[in-house]
Amino acid sequence: MAKSTSILIIEDEVAIRVGLVDVLIYHGYQVDYAEEGLSGLEKALTGNYDLILLDVMLPNMDGFQICTKIREQDKGQAIIMLTAKSTDEDVINGFTLGADDYVSKPFSVAQLILRIKAVLRRSTLKNTELTFIQLDENRRIDLQNLCIQIGKNSLPFTKREIEVIEYLQRYNQRPVAREELLSSVWGYSESMDIETRTVDIHIARIRRKIEIEPKNPEFLITVRGAGYRLICESDN
Ligand code: CA
Repeated sequence: MAKSTSILIIEDEVAIRVGLVDVLIYHGYQVDYAEEGLSGLEKALTGNYDLILLDVMLPNMDGFQICTKIREQDKGQAIIMLTAKSTDEDVINGFTLGADDYVSKPFSVAQLILRIKAVLRRSTLKNTELTFIQLDENRRIDLQNLCIQIGKNSLPFTKREIEVIEYLQRYNQRPVAREELLSSVWGYSESMDIETRTVDIHIARIRRKIEIEPKNPEFLITVRGAGYRLICESDN
């Protein structure tokens, strides 16, 4: 049996939270919840949820701040904001910070379920459709065929190099530290000097393939003291 879709509810109002838990369980979702902002953020950042229902007004940390922090780590996370104030300003704010959709309170259960399904459908597409990364008009990384096309030429990547590129692309709104690449891409639990050099060697190899001037990179850049970042055309 397929793993059921999991939803995190971050909502301080008891009646709404309890109602949501019941309704979502009834509709076959696996449900978890948090009653205030900080524990909500902590759960959200585990990456264990297919979708997060996020209230705006919360004790300790508001929904907009939580949304921003989730996006810093994972831009693929599906988020629906629950807003009590359905003013345009709130809605625009939520979208600017990267929520996928919003539902204003009071909402009907039917409407909410439709929105949830729509957002989940889009986020599944987003996660499976990425086969190319366009660096600039001439440079396209082909994730499935493990190569970069530069004009009419093609240069091969190793599987590991593609994994590094994919990871940097997924989190490209922030720099990724070498230690994080080691644990997430290589699967090391602790980093030693020799291993962080492994990351640097891979980065250097990738740069020789993708950069116009590898010593002066413009796509795979170093953010001093923070890590590496991939700059793609699609983000501009
Ligand atoms: Ca609230």
